[in-house]
Amino acid sequence: MHIVVCVKQVPDTKIIKINPKTNTLDRRSAPAILNPYDAHAVQAAVKIKEKIGGTISVLSMGPPQATAVIKKSVEIGADKGYLISDRAFAGADTLATSYALSKALERINKERPVDLVICGKHAIDGDTGQVGPGIARRMDIPPVTNVIDVSEVNVQEKTVLIKRKLSNGYELIQAELPCLLTVEKEINDIEYSPMTNMIKAARYEPVIWAVSDLEDVDRTQLGLKGSPTIVGKMFTPPRAEGGKKIEGSVDEQVKQLMEVLLENREVLTIKSMNQ
Ligand SMILES: Cc1cc2nc3c(=O)[nH]c(=O)nc-3n(C[C@H](O)[C@H](O)[C@H](O)COP(=O)(O)OP(=O)(O)OC[C@H]3O[C@@H](n4cnc5c(N)ncnc54)[C@H](O)[C@@H]3O)c2cc1C
Repeated sequence: MHIVVCVKQVPDTKIIKINPKTNTLDRRSAPAILNPYDAHAVQAAVKIKEKIGGTISVLSMGPPQATAVIKKSVEIGADKGYLISDRAFAGADTLATSYALSKALERINKERPVDLVICGKHAIDGDTGQVGPGIARRMDIPPVTNVIDVSEVNVQEKTVLIKRKLSNGYELIQAELPCLLTVEKEINDIEYSPMTNMIKAARYEPVIWAVSDLEDVDRTQLGLKGSPTIVGKMFTPPRAEGGKKIEGSVDEQVKQLMEVLLENREVLTIKSMNQ
């Protein structure tokens, strides 16, 4: 069983600032971390490996400092890491990112056939959730999104049983391997890494590939050239104001509610006339 997990280095969006003049993320304003969903994706791969054995590779696209997220993945339990890093990849949108990652996966697949690709549900910076399905489309394998459990991986039958989250419940799916999953945080808890993993991670040097190391790459589909997306505006949405809490006995609550409705009668009438 060969599992490849795609991991992205992202700025910690809890503290990142947006440059109001350029409408871009000021990436220097926050430390770079492993995308939290991708940490859960690596942990999911570790759980599968614990049950049925195999090899876990991680793949990232980014600048040389993105090796940090590969090391972090090795700490969680990955065996091998690949970074594709080249100026030609810079400025990529989700279309160009999924193209570049699928080309790297093509090479990894030649070295050792890939049975399962796992991605995070989304990256906390770009937040589109498009890269996983984009890779699956290019590899011509089925994508299964919003996964919260993976069980019964059958390498002989080439099937996997997956539980995915829906807005009103969940769905159980049997997919054929190879396939691509995008995982939710609920899939697992990140466990403490054993000391041996930490030592391995500290010494680990990922394989780094430039565009020239990948085969049959159409350079017009890479980086800014291959990115049709235009970011119109980026801003921090205003914080929602706290609502008014109505408390007391039922009679008191009805009285207070009527007062609020009457206070806002004009606004409510205009709104309902517009509907
Ligand atoms: C015009 C334009 C220019 C941009 N320029 C840059 C730039 O120069 N530098 C930059 O960092 N971003 C840039 N971005 C943002 C970048 O396109 C996205 O962050 C990237 O394509 C991934 O999309 P996402 O964050 O929405 O990922 P999602 O689709 O939300 O990610 C889902 C999952 O896909 C996988 N994944 C996503 N990206 C990667 C990756 N790079 N490596 C490995 N796995 C990955 C992970 O498993 C992740 O959990 C640019 C965007 C646009 C529109």
